[in-house]
Amino acid sequence: MSLVTVPAVLLRSYPYSESSLVLRFLTPEHGVVSALAKGVRRRSSRGETPMETFQRGSLTFLYREERDLHGFRDFQSPISSRPLAGDLLRFSGASFLAELVLTHTMQEANSRLFTHLVGLLDRIETEARAELPGVILSGAWTLLLDFGFPPALAECLDCGEELPGEGMGRFDVEGGGIRCGVCARGGEGPRIGPEAQVDLRRLVSGTPSGPLRGAAAHLSLVERYALYHLAGRRPFHATTLLRTSLVQLGTEDGGEGGGEMGPMEEEGASLPGIPDA
Ligand SMILES: [Zn+2]
Repeated sequence: MSLVTVPAVLLRSYPYSESSLVLRFLTPEHGVVSALAKGVRRRSSRGETPMETFQRGSLTFLYREERDLHGFRDFQSPISSRPLAGDLLRFSGASFLAELVLTHTMQEANSRLFTHLVGLLDRIETEARAELPGVILSGAWTLLLDFGFPPALAECLDCGEELPGEGMGRFDVEGGGIRCGVCARGGEGPRIGPEAQVDLRRLVSGTPSGPLRGAAAHLSLVERYALYHLAGRRPFHATTLLRTSLVQLGTEDGGEGGGEMGPMEEEGASLPGIPDA
């Protein structure tokens, strides 16, 4: 056992007993660290400042080799994550990205992932609301790229025709790509028009631009893709609230960014783009 101090971001906490918490951090050197914080719930009920999810700071923990649960000692944070906690869209977006990381990441060094996630959380805290759907969904896709699951969006999965072609294609979650309008006929999977394909490519490349049309449908797409490729055992918790927040933002914006195009859970629902061919 050794006492270790590392940069960290708090991704999740949950009660362990009446007085204790299990805290799950992402760190550059140790990947996801789960640490048992004894008595911390009692202390925060006595008025000490509780740790907030998505706070970044310096974590000191008792590292137990070959163990899943380590001993929490201290977490010093100079930055408050208040802007996240006070805004459902920002909070649920950050929660979704945290869930992706927790689903996939083990206790192994990955400083690139740490820098990537902290950068995304910074943007989710500070970006204008209208830009947030693009930032959050692009964040999810770029994390999936980091994990080694890039979708193939340049060419049709079947015929190799350059995308986006004409007509309504279909996204193949398991195949990890898109079928062109011709090859998609009679097939299955979420329908995705040419404009939505362009939007999707921007999200995956990490360069969302402006308000995102059909954000709730884009969320359903990345959620399904992540569930399949990360072999998640259950649906992500954060996406229900995130979807509601996206639809609400879309309503504020006049229906452009939200879910009015219809989520893609139902067969036949589609991403906006062009009318169904
Ligand atoms: Zn094709």
